[in-house]
Amino acid sequence: MSSVVDLVEPGHLAHLATPANLRLGREIAARSGVEILDFGTCRVTARVSNGQRRRVELSSTPQGLEWRCTCTKRPDLFCKHCVAVAVATWDEAPPLGERSDLAAWSSGSAAAGERSSEP
Ligand SMILES: [Zn+2]
Repeated sequence: MSSVVDLVEPGHLAHLATPANLRLGREIAARSGVEILDFGTCRVTARVSNGQRRRVELSSTPQGLEWRCTCTKRPDLFCKHCVAVAVATWDEAPPLGERSDLAAWSSGSAAAGERSSEP
């Protein structure tokens, strides 16, 4: 099973969130609005401060990434808080090789589903 970090790679997020939420979430993460409470391989919980406090949980399941945020009851909505926590999770993760897929931030979904495995 993948770790949460694997499932929040930037190329992936572009498929999960709307462009607006992607941008807002990245802004929240950039100004340190995310406080990670528990960083586990299969589950990350965090508090997001963006005016209001939200609590976000990202977990890795056999079906893929699952998420929950206290701002919405819609299970399909990957909101800006989820984006912020996903970005913070990715940034917190120990570097894996080159992490060259960071380029996906600018190129959209180009790198989704593809990982370079250069030594
Ligand atoms: Zn939210």
